[in-house]
Amino acid sequence: MDVYGLIGNPVGHSLSPPMHKAGYEALGLDARYVTFEPPKEGAVAAIEGADALGVAGLNVTIPFKQDALDAVDPDPLAERIGAVNTVDFTGEGRPAGYNTDAVGAVRALRSHDVDLSGTAVVVGAGGAGRAVAFGLADEGMPVRIANRTESKARDLAAEVPDATGHGLDDLGELLADADVLVNATSVGMEEDATPVPAEALHGDLAVLDAVYRPLETRLLRDASEAGATTVDGAWMLLYQGVEAFERWTGEVAPVDAMNDALRAEL
Ligand code: NAP
Repeated sequence: MDVYGLIGNPVGHSLSPPMHKAGYEALGLDARYVTFEPPKEGAVAAIEGADALGVAGLNVTIPFKQDALDAVDPDPLAERIGAVNTVDFTGEGRPAGYNTDAVGAVRALRSHDVDLSGTAVVVGAGGAGRAVAFGLADEGMPVRIANRTESKARDLAAEVPDATGHGLDDLGELLADADVLVNATSVGMEEDATPVPAEALHGDLAVLDAVYRPLETRLLRDASEAGATTVDGAWMLLYQGVEAFERWTGEVAPVDAMNDALRAEL
């Protein structure tokens, strides 16, 4: 049996176990997905320990995504983002590290037929904002990054190709001719709030909210009322998991089964 898992602290409310389990069942794979909660300074020890135990793959979540870089051979995208959320132990030598949050956002948008040839606005410059900004830039999109702390947006924009950094006050102007908007802040989680003024939204936008609790955030409600295409945060969560599943197993992931299992938990 292949063992996969997740390290995080805390991991109690993770939606990854049911999502991956549904994937194994749908494909008839003899595999199991378990969660581990090492101490907060323990990323490297946990990854090395999992390797020694013969674990086949690990997802990595808060607070370990940056420290995990020291225990893996990161692919170029994970290295640029500065964070790893997927470790693959199945190759030779040092485990491979990936950042599937970036690909998760791109695949979430593509699964809704969103055209990624225009301009993107990413709100947020934390971990999710970094991943999404690099992911969309790799698709060739000019990326406008807006963050409450403007200096963080400018610092990130300096690293991302064809990007600019802004404060939240610029959102109205930035969104006027934008095609894709991603909220990568935690605003909207457990509160009916949005980082984007409703009047800045319009019908030519596709709006992805990384927040998935609740599924229908105020931003997505406002976007829907403006006639925009909306993509909820569970799609990004789904596709980061799908990407990890495919890297680990070498199989095409059973996306519908994994999606159903994920949404049953939300
Ligand atoms: P993080 O590194 O702590 O970054 C938080 C971001 O939110 C920063 O840009 C911060 O701005 C901004 N922010 C926080 N409170 C704010 C407020 N009141 N007004 C305006 N901006 C505010 O967190 P993260 O890991 O990037 O996660 C961000 C969100 O993305 C979370 O809700 C997380 O659950 C979600 N996420 C979803 C997925 C998915 O697969 N769907 C994957 C990863 C993350 P400052 O820099 O100014 O503090």
